[in-house]
Amino acid sequence: MDLSVAEIIVIGNEILSGKRTDTNSAFLGRAFSRVGITVDRKVTVPDTHEGIRNTVKDALERVSLVVTSGGLGPTIDDITREALAEASGIALHTDEDYLAEVKRKFESRGITFSENNRSVALVPDRGTFFRNPNGSAPGLLFRGDGFVLVALPGPPQELEPIVEESLIPHLRELDPSLQPRIKRVFRLVGLGESNIDLEVREMVKGEDAIEVASMPHLGWVEVTFSLLEPDDDHRKRFDAVCDRFAERFSGEIFGDGDTTLEGRVGELLKGRGETLATAESCTGGLIGGRITAVAGSSDYFLGSIVAYSNDVKINALSVPLDTLEKHGAVSEPVAAAMARGVRDALGTDWGVSVTGVAGPGGGTDQKPVGLVYIGVAGPSVEQVEQHQFIGDRRGVRERSVIASLNLLRKCLCR
Ligand code: ATP
Repeated sequence: MDLSVAEIIVIGNEILSGKRTDTNSAFLGRAFSRVGITVDRKVTVPDTHEGIRNTVKDALERVSLVVTSGGLGPTIDDITREALAEASGIALHTDEDYLAEVKRKFESRGITFSENNRSVALVPDRGTFFRNPNGSAPGLLFRGDGFVLVALPGPPQELEPIVEESLIPHLRELDPSLQPRIKRVFRLVGLGESNIDLEVREMVKGEDAIEVASMPHLGWVEVTFSLLEPDDDHRKRFDAVCDRFAERFSGEIFGDGDTTLEGRVGELLKGRGETLATAESCTGGLIGGRITAVAGSSDYFLGSIVAYSNDVKINALSVPLDTLEKHGAVSEPVAAAMARGVRDALGTDWGVSVTGVAGPGGGTDQKPVGLVYIGVAGPSVEQVEQHQFIGDRRGVRERSVIASLNLLRKCLCR
């Protein structure tokens, strides 16, 4: 059976009213795309019998795999199960063994089993069901002639393990052509998404079996190449395109889909056996926070001086008073002095500094909001970069963190 295209139906008044954010369909989209199932459409419907039945029926006319989320809990009017049975034309029966299992589970936890819980053991006559390790309502699979309809419980901690451990392996049995997609993921920093996009489009021109998706984050971009047809010839072309991309952006790529910028900087420092300290003004300690979020960072990170006021810049970082008076706190010479100062004060190999105008107030014509100087001082290296960031206070501070980690990374890679 061809299960390569799916539709998702999210059930829930809470999702429609905005009380809850739908994370289930995003999770399903990611899990499905990993095995080559394309999600063609997703809709959210209220908890009504007609709404669910009609939406499922419509979807089954278009695709052979339809998955619903939510509405399976033990309620007296079993709206979802009944609606799915009607839409699929597959009746339900009580699975006595499963019912006994649920009763035992309740008893072992000292909870009385009330009769309205019986509906959790209602399963399709044709199809199967998937046990729920974190709840009582199982996932249901209605198997019709030429279609598969799946109903999953709403709570993400219930839905996610059912999808990973039971649903995906089962779908792959039903449609053996579903294979984990061959992918290569690159994370890049220091370039805008549009610059990368233009060049990537050029690189994959005429390559119908290669899909490229770029996802922008604040200050960095993730580019994923996926191979749609995994035969030898396409595989070779795919590798060639990815290698060309890796070479073209070698200066900007900091890792694959599992690498963080702070993790990469940590690896580089560890590899060199060197240490780091930070001197932070407008980021107020965010860089130190980011670096210490990496387990094992105590191997290379010694500490941070949050030098928000000029007094701290002078007293703790030895920034000369006349440099501050002549150029102002947000300036290239002060950033350089801060990086040198923290390196000396904490006795590290590397010092990184940030000083800037985060806004929303405090900007002038000469020094507008978003102007940030980043300094790095290291063994025989000293460099300051000037940036003009856009965005609100949070955005300017976050971009400053990324830019400072990136400048350090570039210096460490030299
Ligand atoms: P329960 O056994 O909890 O009644 P259920 O299958 O009936 O499960 P719902 O009642 O629809 O599921 O949702 C239960 C809870 O699961 C919601 O309150 C919400 O916290 C979460 N939930 C439901 N749908 C989604 C969704 N699409 N994304 C994220 N969370 C969801």
